[in-house]
Amino acid sequence: MRQPILCGACGTRVPQVGGGHQPRRYCNDACKQRAYRTRQEEKKRAAMRQRWAGYRPRTQELLESALRYHEPEVVNLMLEALEAECEPEVVKSPAAGEGTARGTIVTPDRL
Ligand SMILES: [Zn+2]
Repeated sequence: MRQPILCGACGTRVPQVGGGHQPRRYCNDACKQRAYRTRQEEKKRAAMRQRWAGYRPRTQELLESALRYHEPEVVNLMLEALEAECEPEVVKSPAAGEGTARGTIVTPDRL
């Protein structure tokens, strides 16, 4: 007797058609879709974990829990905002004006 195949999405035993067909791994298209989406999400999560690999353990923990409650897209936006907070404000100035944007001490003229 052959080992029953359990659906890759819901774990229900998948009835097989037999007759030389490829074994079915999902009970229906909905489950197949769900499994596909889960794999895609897992890929995104893995990519994001890579991204915060160098962060402090506490930050990683928080991001990890955020990932449990939110869509990866949402966490990604949070991550982008967080990274932007850490970057110094970049003053886009033409090459000619270089040196004037930073380090200039503006003295108020009320003296
Ligand atoms: Zn299923």
